[in-house]
Amino acid sequence: MPATENPILPWHESSWLRVVEWSRLDRLPHALLLSAVRGSGKRDFAERLATWLLCSNPGDVACGECKHCRLRAAGAHPDIQVCTPADSRVIKVDQVRALTEFLVQSPQVAARKIAIVDTADQLNMNAANALLKTLEEPATDVNLLLLQHAGQRILPTLRSRCQVLSLPTPPIDTARDWLLSRLEGEEGRDPELLDHALALAGGAPLAAQALIHDGHLAAAEQCLSALRQYLKGQVVLSDAVAPFLKEGLASTLVFMGRWAQDLARLGAGGHGEDHQAHDMLSYLAQHNHPAEVHHLYARIQEARAGMTYNLNPELEIGQLLMAWRKLMPRKQARAS
Ligand SMILES: [Zn+2]
Repeated sequence: MPATENPILPWHESSWLRVVEWSRLDRLPHALLLSAVRGSGKRDFAERLATWLLCSNPGDVACGECKHCRLRAAGAHPDIQVCTPADSRVIKVDQVRALTEFLVQSPQVAARKIAIVDTADQLNMNAANALLKTLEEPATDVNLLLLQHAGQRILPTLRSRCQVLSLPTPPIDTARDWLLSRLEGEEGRDPELLDHALALAGGAPLAAQALIHDGHLAAAEQCLSALRQYLKGQVVLSDAVAPFLKEGLASTLVFMGRWAQDLARLGAGGHGEDHQAHDMLSYLAQHNHPAEVHHLYARIQEARAGMTYNLNPELEIGQLLMAWRKLMPRKQARAS
């Protein structure tokens, strides 16, 4: 598919131009760490950059017509490899070893080889150390593109050997417009639903699109309802955990992170973004000191940072729900 048919994500344009400029000045780092909010399109950026670097006739974007661009469009270019977690939540050392072996061979058809690691915060300790060796002895014809979910931990020695490029999250209007263009002719164009998806996705458009497409929006409502009932003492903890567990720990932390942010905003006299949670969060904001709210938010951030290595999502979700419950005024918590 020619690059023009699939334009660069609008909020990535300035970052893209910066990378193109680095390359023209021959200053493109051997290892680039692309850090961005989950679901804001960093993989799209990396794939596009890989195609551009392989293209034999690149302008500001890949030409879309040369042999390399055609191979890329067919998903058959032999000089690029992508490393993602296989059948678990972490990238294992064997995967990195295979990647390293690929990188030490000469390119087959292009002038260079490219490796994408999606994501570097999912490398287990052995895998991260194995990758470190590759970064310490860089081959000149190799480009490594490491991705990182913003806020997730990454081995500091790994990070220090990369140039970090933080990709932005778009302003709400840009995100809404992009989402509208993507959902053309579909049911999901209802503005309220769209804003709800964006609010839950932390403003990340691709994550919002996935929420709408994969039916997660309804699941998010079930999660909110479970939290509401648990706070009122209408359901037991295990029943409240169930819908969150079904969505997974990552989504749970996204949902709860958004609600906690809204709670902080409401506590400071501002407005929340998730209107469906408004009544519950306003109530909690009225009955809690900002320090309590901050404590909950920090707890969610902590869970997020350790998520990759968390072996018991059920326990974690239960503990998070209990942290929410602590915000209920004592009398109400007992009354129902
Ligand atoms: Zn090309």
